[in-house]
Amino acid sequence: MNETASQQERAVYTNSSEINDTKEYDIGFAVEEECNVKIRKEISELYNYLSKTWTPNKNYIFPLTKDKNGHSRSFRIEWIDKYNWLAYSHLSKGAFCKVCVLFGPKVSGIGEQKLGILKETPLIKYKDALYDLKKHCEREYHKTATLRSLEFIKCFEGKQQTIEVQLDDQLKKTVEENKKKIDSHC
Ligand SMILES: [Zn+2]
Repeated sequence: MNETASQQERAVYTNSSEINDTKEYDIGFAVEEECNVKIRKEISELYNYLSKTWTPNKNYIFPLTKDKNGHSRSFRIEWIDKYNWLAYSHLSKGAFCKVCVLFGPKVSGIGEQKLGILKETPLIKYKDALYDLKKHCEREYHKTATLRSLEFIKCFEGKQQTIEVQLDDQLKKTVEENKKKIDSHC
């Protein structure tokens, strides 16, 4: 009986730790100002947050948000397929535009346009979600951030390729040199 009880406790513990544990490259981390500045400075971190963003799996249970009429709605995973810039944060329990978080204007100052939902605060109300997401796509700052992110990926992946080519060239050179050495011994 004790054995069963302890197993159950462990099972419960596993579930609650699943809820509380931190997810790698959860976009919610990148929203916090200090973290945001740090990520933007570290190119590989920026790349990982952009291209390896934590994404909930099919079995993930999204929290429900009740509207004033008592209707409960939750985030729908297919929205991520529809909008490749959309990321759901386990940490913030809501959705963000990862492109605007990572490449949008820095946290807005006094007198500047408040960027708000999807950039600084998560989208958690889903009544008009499809309309809100479509509207976000049309924002000038989103379009600019998208262009910047595409340019960044091109540069980052291009650099990786340059390094690979260089390594490849180096390898060929070494092989050739070694072949010559062998030849001269024959
Ligand atoms: Zn955006």
